[in-house]
Amino acid sequence: MVADKAVDSANKKQENMDVLTSTRAVVKLALEKLGYPDELYELLKEPLRMMAVRIPVRMDDGAIKVFTGYRAQHNDAVGPTKGGIRFHPDVTADEIKALSIWMSLKSGIVDLPYGGAKGGIVCDPRQMSFRELEGLSRGYVRAVSQIVGPTKDIPAPDVFTNSQIMAWMMDEYSRMDEYNSPGFITGKPIVLGGSHGRETATAKGVTIVLKEAAKKKGLDVKGARVIVQGFGNAGSYLSKFLHDEGAKVVGISDAYGALYDPDGLDIDYLLDRRDSFGTVTKLFNNTISNKELLECDCDIIVPAAVENQITEENAPKIKASIIVEAANGPTTRGATKILTERGILLVPDVLASAGGVTVSYFEWVQNNQGYYWSEKEIDEKLHEIMIRSFNSIYNLAESRRVDMRLAAYMIGVRKMAEASRFRGWV
Ligand code: GLU
Repeated sequence: MVADKAVDSANKKQENMDVLTSTRAVVKLALEKLGYPDELYELLKEPLRMMAVRIPVRMDDGAIKVFTGYRAQHNDAVGPTKGGIRFHPDVTADEIKALSIWMSLKSGIVDLPYGGAKGGIVCDPRQMSFRELEGLSRGYVRAVSQIVGPTKDIPAPDVFTNSQIMAWMMDEYSRMDEYNSPGFITGKPIVLGGSHGRETATAKGVTIVLKEAAKKKGLDVKGARVIVQGFGNAGSYLSKFLHDEGAKVVGISDAYGALYDPDGLDIDYLLDRRDSFGTVTKLFNNTISNKELLECDCDIIVPAAVENQITEENAPKIKASIIVEAANGPTTRGATKILTERGILLVPDVLASAGGVTVSYFEWVQNNQGYYWSEKEIDEKLHEIMIRSFNSIYNLAESRRVDMRLAAYMIGVRKMAEASRFRGWV
């Protein structure tokens, strides 16, 4: 068992290294396609700043446990950096670096005045009490306080973090700063300066691009059979939105297993029974594995969980004609190639999941101006941005005969490359 765990964690480290390597490879290709010199790649292949911290927390049994955390700031040529903080046992430095590069690309794609950043803490929040999580959240903010702030680097939620954690972090920062700083972090509860529509933003953005992709493929979302892998923030809201649009959600999953029913699942029931970490399959006996789920019959797959789910091994067996990546990095590079060759339309993560950071930007703008918008205004603005971004990437992919991931990277990297040049960095 212990040996198994060691092997698992070694594999995870290797996978995270691969994620960084493949991200770099696509960034390099995108810069080459745009005709930029090698120096730009040298600048953009690593975050400008990477901080590793140790966070002591007194646990409920009285003992002190010391956690490791990271904050990577990829590039701040365009503006302050921005990106979420994840709490997960598999967090590694390389993964956080790759995620910070993806945040730069997302900001470039939806044209926000930000560079990318990402944070993470190696921990398992499912095994921690509320009090321990509060201590860890506050400790993280104290540890990274010198490099974050409303005009420097603005954190947000990510895997296994939520509005309560953002609230503790904002409170801790405000105490240190000695004034109320809602613009320090986004994804806050509404009463603390959070934005309408932030909680559902990633899922709404995914729904918008999924509908555009379906149009391109001549597929009607009404009645389309969809598999959603992951039932966390993105996956659960997305299942609900697609179900409400008339799609048939035939498969869902969580970290422990998956459910598949060709006649469609009872999404409202599953949403009602899921816990705050998105766990629901434990309540059922007839589960299948996540791996099996991805090979089931369907029209659309939305991976909304973690990295490296669609690989060279299962890509040839996938039945869907559209894949929309709601998670960060769910498809490996080799798998992207196979899927593209098979004519499957792959809407890449840096585009599909950019709704979250877009509404985070709206939240920050509202905090800075002290004037708040209605949900309707937020929805309209998000809709316009997602449609525009989808079309510019789709059209570039068509005209340059590249896959949508490379087209997305080309658009995502351009503003940051130009800003770095104007500043005289390269
Ligand atoms: N963690 C989210 C992402 O990966 C949101 C980041 C943000 O809102 O700043 O896009």
